[in-house]
Amino acid sequence: MKGFAMLGIGKTGWIEKDKPVCGPLDALVKPIAVSPCTSDIHTVWEGALGERHDMILGHESVGEVAEVGSLVKDFKPGDRVVVTAITPDWGSLEAQGGYAMHSGGMLSGWKFSNFKDGVFGEYYHVNEADANMALLPSNLAPETAVMLCDMMPTGLHGAELAEIKFGDTVCVIGIGPVGLMSVAGAVLRGASSVYAVGSRPVCAKVAKEYGATDIINYKEGDIVEQIFEKTDGKGVDRVIIAGGGVETVEQAVRMLKPGGRIGNVNYFGEGGAISVSLAPWGNGMAHKLIAGGLMPGGRLRAEKLASLITNGRIDPSKLVTHVFHGFDKIPEALELMHNKPSDLIKPVVLMD
Ligand code: NAD
Ligand code: ZN
Repeated sequence: MKGFAMLGIGKTGWIEKDKPVCGPLDALVKPIAVSPCTSDIHTVWEGALGERHDMILGHESVGEVAEVGSLVKDFKPGDRVVVTAITPDWGSLEAQGGYAMHSGGMLSGWKFSNFKDGVFGEYYHVNEADANMALLPSNLAPETAVMLCDMMPTGLHGAELAEIKFGDTVCVIGIGPVGLMSVAGAVLRGASSVYAVGSRPVCAKVAKEYGATDIINYKEGDIVEQIFEKTDGKGVDRVIIAGGGVETVEQAVRMLKPGGRIGNVNYFGEGGAISVSLAPWGNGMAHKLIAGGLMPGGRLRAEKLASLITNGRIDPSKLVTHVFHGFDKIPEALELMHNKPSDLIKPVVLMD
């Protein structure tokens, strides 16, 4: 079969591979829609996972089941499914401990385009199919549903990690597709004010539509000062980090009220370490918490998040700014994600 792959750091291309083998608990899926991700860019052009050769890229896809293993109970060939970017081993000790995304070792629930071929192939392999796929609701368009694989679960996880409570004031740093879902998640969890930090007009517009009360432009001065100006010097209860470099953690600590909490879903690839100034951290006694996490995967969560869309609570279709048609358009969509033109939030490729 054909797949679009990372050939080495900084290099991509089409390759031929054997069709994956379907184990008894697994499924083989043919993509219906895929979406390139910022993480694919980190993987290929920043070597975030280290050297990878001839590894098919992509981890965001809805598809049609082509084959199921003999022990798969709930799915059959022809079913249309959402497959989560993180596909844990649900019997692992980490999963039993409540952190399935780290099954098999830190971050190891992330298998697609990391430890095995991803979803930019004619077929892809899903481990533990009953637990890692959800039926695609019939009233959900594939180009919207593909936001259930990573953008929506990650953005909402930022709001979960920050433990947003009714009436909280929240700052979301970084409003690409993940941060925009964090804005929507903060609103859904009852935030009273949401300060969305971003610079691109296309993202600021959607942030407002998702309920951001204020837009703060990080290119127009220190965001901590801007937050203090808008909050009468009080700062915010919660911060979600979904973009920017390691300096955002320092900024988040500074803008938090005592007892505040940071939910980080951003990937920090550079900078070596985060630093926290002592005074804004109450010299270690401010009860300011930093929580960071990989998105939870799995069927139950995908079904629950899908019902948020079908019941009209969140509309992730606003993220999809570019739709391509045809398998051969994958490189173009990935390149778009790499170059990030000003009108882009998220591209999707439909296989039709
Ligand atoms: P994105 O690059 O599209 O969006 C990030 C945004 O942050 C961009 O619009 C960028 O202009 C903006 N930005 C840059 N510097 C900033 C600053 N100093 N302050 C505020 N904003 C700034 O990426 P995305 O797809 O939205 O993903 C966000 C992050 O989440 C990425 O690092 C990605 O790798 C990571 N991610 C994590 C998980 C997870 O499970 N935790 C899953 C998917 C993606
Ligand atoms: Zn992704």
